[in-house]
Parts: sequence; structure tokens; C-alpha cells
Amino acid sequence: MEHKDKAALWTLRPHMENLILNSVKLIRGAHEEYSSNLVYPTSLGISGNVMIDMICTYVPEIKIITLDTGMLHPETLQLHQKLEAKYGIVIERIKPSVFEVASMIENHGVDLYRKSVSLRKLCCEVRKVNPLKDELHGKAWLTGRRSDQSDIRLELEQVELNPSMGVAKFNPLLSWSRDDIWFYVLKMGLPYNNLFDQHYGSIGCAPCTRAVTVGEDERSGRWWWENKDAASECGLHMNPISRQTHE
Ligand code: SF4
Repeated sequence: MEHKDKAALWTLRPHMENLILNSVKLIRGAHEEYSSNLVYPTSLGISGNVMIDMICTYVPEIKIITLDTGMLHPETLQLHQKLEAKYGIVIERIKPSVFEVASMIENHGVDLYRKSVSLRKLCCEVRKVNPLKDELHGKAWLTGRRSDQSDIRLELEQVELNPSMGVAKFNPLLSWSRDDIWFYVLKMGLPYNNLFDQHYGSIGCAPCTRAVTVGEDERSGRWWWENKDAASECGLHMNPISRQTHE
């Protein structure tokens, strides 16, 4: 079904009202607790569009940042500009150290991510984990992760204390399904990454993301050449201690 056709079914999803209320409640609660020490790092994926809309609508004080790994699709960079224009905000670009990137390429080649799982993880560490870790030091952060994205994410909780980065992590969209996300995006007329219309399920760096086919979970297009366990995450989301609710 085309995304525009799905939008017509909005009225058949009465549970959406509660989903939105609960997500906004969690975002507001996180902001009350951490104030300016709360940030939302987004990869500008489809769930991120919902998060950005809710933040800009209900808690616009929250700072929004994005990782520019230097390897993103042009479509992702275009979406960044569209979102800034729509909401009148600046989504700050966090970039990796040019020295670390240059050293990594000199030692392992520009396509190191295809040579071994450990080199792929090194690339993710240099281009993603290290810059975000610096940015999140001493801060709490929001994510757009959902339980239905992959088997690994089924076990997530709404609030994670002492995550590997920052002091706390909040997952306001945990209970949303992919269809819920798309209904919201289409109903609200939000811009989204054009790659989703080319059957991409989850969008990361250009060389490490491909379109998915029927029956594959949406993150299976990430690092698809690796075995499933190694390919599921990039290291940004590790070692949570959970807190079920945030009241
Ligand atoms: S997703 Fe690929 S290109 Fe991007 S940081 Fe990880 S390994 Fe490197």
C-alpha cells in the first residue's frame, strides 16, 4: 500500500491519541527532570520525524542534534534542510574528529567497514559513537527507538539509567508500531526521507544501508552482509539499566 493511501485509514486507529499523549508525557517529564541537560540526537529516520514534530510542538526548548558522519545519503541531508525550514529551528550537526577519520582511513582504507565486523565497528565508533559520547557527556537524551524495529529492541524499556552514553535515556516511541509512525507522519504532513519511497526500512550511512524486501525487519538493511547479531546495532545503544516508567 502506498503511504498516501495509508493516511486515509487514520480514523481506524483510535489508539493513536493515547500513544501521542503518553509519548508527550514522557518527553515533558524528561525535560522537567533534566531541563537544558536533555537533548534529542536524531538520525533523521522516520521515527525521528515524529519525535521532532512532538518536540517542536510541545517542548520546543529541547535541543535537537544530528550526527553528520560524512557518509550520509544526499536525501538525508535534504531532509535536514526541510525540517529546519518547516520548524524554524537549527538541528545542530555533530561531526567526527577529522584527525580520527583521517588516521582510520590511512590505516585501514576508506571502505574498512566491508573488511571485517571489527573494522566496521571501528568506523561506527569513530564516526558515530565518539562524537556523540562527547556531546552527551553528563546529559540525558531522547531516542526514537521502537520495540518493533528488531528482536534486539523488543527488550527495551521506556527509561534507561546509566546508559553507555549520557546519564539517562528515554524512549518515548517504544510502544509505537511502524504503521503508527507512518500514520502520524502522513496525517501531519511531515517531510520524510525520500529513500523510504524506494523501500528503505531504516536509513543510516549510504554505504551501510540498503532497501529491504517483504518479510525482513526494517533494520535488516543495515550492515546486511554481516551475521544478524553483529549487524543489529552500531554501538550507540548499549548496556541499559531500565526504569519501566517515568512519572
Ligand atoms: S554505518 Fe557504515 S559508514 Fe557509517 S559509521 Fe558505521 S560503518 Fe562507518
